[in-house]
Amino acid sequence: MCGIFGCALRSGLAAPKVLSGLRRLEYRGYDSCGEATVHNGQLFIKKGVGEIDKVHMELCLDDLPGSIGIGHTRWATHGAPTKENAHPHADCRNQIAVVHNGIIENFLELRRELEERGHVFRSNTDTEVIPHLIEEFMSKGLSLLEATMMAVRRLRGSFALVIAHVGFDGLICVKKESPLVIGVGGDGMYVASDIPAILPYTRRIIQLEDGDLAVVRPDGYEIYDFKSGRPVRRR
Ligand code: GLU
Repeated sequence: MCGIFGCALRSGLAAPKVLSGLRRLEYRGYDSCGEATVHNGQLFIKKGVGEIDKVHMELCLDDLPGSIGIGHTRWATHGAPTKENAHPHADCRNQIAVVHNGIIENFLELRRELEERGHVFRSNTDTEVIPHLIEEFMSKGLSLLEATMMAVRRLRGSFALVIAHVGFDGLICVKKESPLVIGVGGDGMYVASDIPAILPYTRRIIQLEDGDLAVVRPDGYEIYDFKSGRPVRRR
């Protein structure tokens, strides 16, 4: 298991909330952890090996700038528990950051294909193919939403994903066979692997279903079926 937490706030810093969200997900077990935020068109990432408090002591996980943030506590399935393999993972140009819970079964084949197209990988994880795939589709002129849909259609396996992009004031969330919930808060939107991690901020929760892709902005959200691209409604 692992834990995912993210928030897209109207104002204020995301990083301290991501840090406390990760602490509430600690029970899920983990070997490393990390955070990414977006601020002024730039991605800020910190990650390290070990318990959240140890990594926080070393790196100070709550001082990243920006009101859009994602975080992850990793339970390694592909690639040793090292700093390089800790999430979030980014694309070649550090524009896209991804946290992932689950396993991408066809990552080797995707990685080979992306490396042939010039993508440079920095980790041994299955996860890292995802930011590079999105980058590849965006380089063909697709929007972040379209590129993410195209990318996740290529993935086999299980995945809860939260994705941040330097040019987007929000987050993209995708769910297939790993848990992911959205919280509608007074000061912005929250996303996490489980409901208790979000409860300090809101009791208005949407449980995503398999095949859902949610576009989450500080003041609202839309959900699509990622296979058909059609909007769906969830309670
Ligand atoms: N398969 C991914 C990895 O090994 C995600 C593991 C997890 O769910 O924590 O990095």
